[in-house]
Amino acid sequence: MSKGNRSKIDNLGRVVVPKSIRKALNIESNSEISMYVENNKLIITKGSQICTICDTKDISLQLKNKFLCNICISDIKDL
Ligand SMILES: [Zn+2]
Repeated sequence: MSKGNRSKIDNLGRVVVPKSIRKALNIESNSEISMYVENNKLIITKGSQICTICDTKDISLQLKNKFLCNICISDIKDL
């Protein structure tokens, strides 16, 4: 695991993920990543956010580290 990596966010909000981290996680150019806030920290994960229940990518709500789509939210409300 690499340590001490630092980046600056440019004026368009872009950040460079250091090569050592990309290599460690096998993240290649044009790989999809997801970002969310948890406990006041920016979390970047490999891959896309998908609904915890039905796996759709159309996410409407984040609850801690889980994501839910509108359809599943409606289904839960109807329980
Ligand atoms: Zn869903």
